[in-house]
Amino acid sequence: MTPLGRILAARIAAEGPITLADYMAACLLHPRHGYYRGRDPFGASGDFTTAPEISQMFGEMLALCLAQSWLDQGAPGRIVLAEIGPGRGTLMADVLRTLKSVPGMTAAASVHLIEASPALRARQREALEGRPVHWHDQPSDLPDGPLFVLANEFFDALPIRQFLRHEKGWAERQVSIRDGKLALGLAPAGPFGALAHRLDGTRPGDIVEHCPALPAIAGEIGTRIATDGGAALIVDYGGWRGLGDTFQALKAHRPVDPLAEPGLADLTAHVDFAALAAAFRASGAAATAMTPQGVFLERLGITARANALAEQLRGTALDSHVAAHRRLTHPEEMGKLFKVIACHPFGATPPPGLDISNKDDARDYHP
Ligand code: SAH
Repeated sequence: MTPLGRILAARIAAEGPITLADYMAACLLHPRHGYYRGRDPFGASGDFTTAPEISQMFGEMLALCLAQSWLDQGAPGRIVLAEIGPGRGTLMADVLRTLKSVPGMTAAASVHLIEASPALRARQREALEGRPVHWHDQPSDLPDGPLFVLANEFFDALPIRQFLRHEKGWAERQVSIRDGKLALGLAPAGPFGALAHRLDGTRPGDIVEHCPALPAIAGEIGTRIATDGGAALIVDYGGWRGLGDTFQALKAHRPVDPLAEPGLADLTAHVDFAALAAAFRASGAAATAMTPQGVFLERLGITARANALAEQLRGTALDSHVAAHRRLTHPEEMGKLFKVIACHPFGATPPPGLDISNKDDARDYHP
């Protein structure tokens, strides 16, 4: 067992089984042994790769999308430009470089990063050298002002709880100990308020996931955007009210058993975009429809940009550029599994590239 595995086993022996959310939180963020605490998990030598690490075009398209929203909202002279879970800082670096061609926008922006990992904060400092940057622990620490915020593959790292549907209630899947090893068990079934709305559309035996931290984080972003203006672009893998077990662990780019090596593998779960939309709307902001990443990037002009960049490239550099474009957009690669949703103020033009939600036309749910 890993050192964190021994700590968790001792805790379970003393206090009983823990939820998957408690397990995931410890594995990712334990002060000494958490996965994100001490390492840079990205790239070929790491455990996984993300869209901004694949190509600069990803950040360029997101930057153009935010810039159009900034212009549509009257180009406010002081804005908070923020990213939640910025990894190596590559996305924000690409965004800032792109925004230089939007007169006035970088001068208006103070840059804010929300990052839990000290190791990754150091990487971000290097990536953004030469530009003042402010780090925070959570979105509620951001300063006031119009908020233009990005999050790529952040929400999938938030701990989830998992429930098995029974006739009328839910049995929570928990981490317990069996034969000296961490193993999944089931708590007795009972009602669970946060999943009451999922009794419709599910059947006994179905597994449903719930991310307890999501509503407060998305709600904080929504409240700020509803009050001060701005826009949020959230990109992640997942769907609308997903069903089934999506809890997964990756190590060295391969799926591994999520209970096998606590603290040494990246743990994620699919993001429920319906929960994001509901949290944005409950906070008084508007949400777009969930849009596939490939469609979103195409609408923003990624192919024209790819062709322009290709003109400078030859040989293997050209091959990997073409492969990167395909990887970001093709339905069999990241184009369909990854989705985008935006939050914007009611009455403001939605950020470009996203499908419009007809829910936001009828304001029936709006307080
Ligand atoms: N957006 C980056 C990184 C995605 S990985 C990219 O696309 O490459 C997830 C990121 O979220 C990491 O930077 C991780 O340290 C950070 N993170 C995970 N949980 C967090 C939390 N609870 N609070 C703040 N940051 C968190």
